[in-house]
Amino acid sequence: MRIASNTVVSLQYVLSNADGDIIDQSADTPFVYLHGHGNIVVGLERALEGRGAGDSFAVEVSPEDGYGERDERLVQVVPREAFGGVDEDDLQPGMRFRAESNDGPRIVVITGVDADSVTVDGNHPLAGQVLSFVVEVREVREATPTELSHGHVHDGDDHHH
Ligand code: ZN
Repeated sequence: MRIASNTVVSLQYVLSNADGDIIDQSADTPFVYLHGHGNIVVGLERALEGRGAGDSFAVEVSPEDGYGERDERLVQVVPREAFGGVDEDDLQPGMRFRAESNDGPRIVVITGVDADSVTVDGNHPLAGQVLSFVVEVREVREATPTELSHGHVHDGDDHHH
């Protein structure tokens, strides 16, 4: 079976950045997703179209087809008091928060802390990066009617929403 919309795909992958550093990879068990529903970045989904079990390939995905370009307007300096409920002494770079924005809730990460202000970045951590994937397709099967109605895979007991 070939990968097309409404097939469930199992694959192993390694994701590297432009410097060749590995930034993500599948675990011992393959990564499983429902094809054609935007569950993975569009550039990788497009590269998988038509492949079959046993196929291996490498693909470079531009920011446009990956996690988008960085938007410097999403980097903001806010007063420490904005972090209600968090002990000010605990605020550290790398901490993530859910923030309200004009576009709805957004995850922001602290990139800097000083005496009375905190710098937060609302960009996806991989925004602006060229993504290099090495992929091996393990299995392709038809999605079940339930999977199609939910828009995601139900894989054994590993069912979470
Ligand atoms: Zn479901």
